[in-house]
Amino acid sequence: MNDLWESTLLRLQKTISPEAFESWIADIEFGGLIDGQLTLRVPNSFQLEWVHNNYESLVLDLCREEARYTNHTAPDAILWTVDADLQARATAARSVEPAPPPSQRPPLVGSHQGRPATPPGGIQVARQSFAPSSSLPQPPVADLNPMYSFDNFVVGPSNQLAHAASVAVASSPGTRYNPLFIYGGVGLGKTHLVNAIGHTVLANNPGASILYLSAERFTNEFIWSLQNHRIAQFRERYRSGCDVLLMDDIQFLAGREQTQEEFFHTFNALHHANKQIVVTSDVYPQQIPEMEERLISRFQSGMVADVQAPEVDTRVAILQTKAAGEGIQLSQEVAHFLAQVVKSNVRELEGTLTRLAVLAELRNRPIDMELAREATRTVMPQMDQVTSVEDIQRAVCEYFGVRMADLKGKKRTRSVSHPRMIAMYLCRERLGTSYPDLGSRFGGKDHTTVLSAYKKIGRLLEENDDKVLDAITAVDRKLGL
Ligand code: ADP
Ligand code: MG
Repeated sequence: MNDLWESTLLRLQKTISPEAFESWIADIEFGGLIDGQLTLRVPNSFQLEWVHNNYESLVLDLCREEARYTNHTAPDAILWTVDADLQARATAARSVEPAPPPSQRPPLVGSHQGRPATPPGGIQVARQSFAPSSSLPQPPVADLNPMYSFDNFVVGPSNQLAHAASVAVASSPGTRYNPLFIYGGVGLGKTHLVNAIGHTVLANNPGASILYLSAERFTNEFIWSLQNHRIAQFRERYRSGCDVLLMDDIQFLAGREQTQEEFFHTFNALHHANKQIVVTSDVYPQQIPEMEERLISRFQSGMVADVQAPEVDTRVAILQTKAAGEGIQLSQEVAHFLAQVVKSNVRELEGTLTRLAVLAELRNRPIDMELAREATRTVMPQMDQVTSVEDIQRAVCEYFGVRMADLKGKKRTRSVSHPRMIAMYLCRERLGTSYPDLGSRFGGKDHTTVLSAYKKIGRLLEENDDKVLDAITAVDRKLGL
């Protein structure tokens, strides 16, 4: 199997629940990567429908990230195809192994049950795979991701408002902020927050009917319902049969006029009945292209909250939460280091931690700075371009209030030697500059002097020395690292 797909599978396994992985992802096979089109083969059309609707963007995101780390061409789209052989193999395997409990299997639709479907060319797009049946294909209960709760969501200045609004909505749905509109860039926690709302509402009221879905899935179901004369059932489900509607990635509706019209009426029906609506988007309502004005004004009529890229302290806390949740041993120093290397996207931050954990497992060694540097090597060069040895020296001088001449000079008093050691450590750590090179850039010192400074500061960090940690965090911040 292609190694890009193999490493993507590993990442997927670490990202979604084991049940979901086994049910939907484990038996997908790589079919090729041509012109940015990643072909993936699935055993049957039901699974195709499901992965297309629920996992496509995650699979694509993770695969793109992996491609970057492994120097592959990154895919820009996925072509899902049904491969009857896979189904035959799975069936053969199942006849020896006991079947998984029904709760872990997909709810099968109509006459399609378990039957492989191979249209001409072996290619099938998702929405054609529904067979006409008496009712709409039912998602499992609420379809929420069990991994995303308020408990494991780290709150910081970047997401405080969105978090507070989500908590308020979850504790009294349909009353205060309706609709709640959460917007922000990719991988910043929007999907996490809406899932957490769903879990909390369900925990408070197990009978509540919660629908969580992407706007893409809403669109697909709507089109299918139109084509199969099931629009009455569709409306019943979304307008009357629902207490809380959690609609992810509404920007997908851009330019889809008929679906927007349908969603507008869905929205009004729910709102009128005081049912809670939560919508997420990658941009502010008015910036969604080709979106009807009346929908935009609906989105703005409740609470609009953004999620921004988290600042370094929040990134460290997210790493620590994730590490604790997965039983990964992560020192403060490594957490700080990772948080400085990966800045803009929490998913990528988590991905880096996962990669590090996988690497540690493969090598059978603890997660230390050396391994962290190795796991992040491909993203480091971006930093080198913006920060130089001089930048670090200057920032350290400012922080400690010492003169550059002293930092590079020969004075041994602690007030000068301590900042000097920190500067040496940071240059080595953040830029990877060699010891002899650093020696000469600190006023012609021997490389062993630099090495022992590096070791000493490293030791203090391992001992969680607050002063050193504060200094390093502050200097990093000055440098925008
Ligand atoms: P979005 O929907 O905004 O693209 P997600 O909600 O899918 O982003 O978040 C991407 C990943 O980052 C998820 O695994 C999520 O759990 C994690 N994540 C994002 N923000 C936080 C946070 N503040 N605390 C903990 N995990 C977070
Ligand atoms: Mg999302």
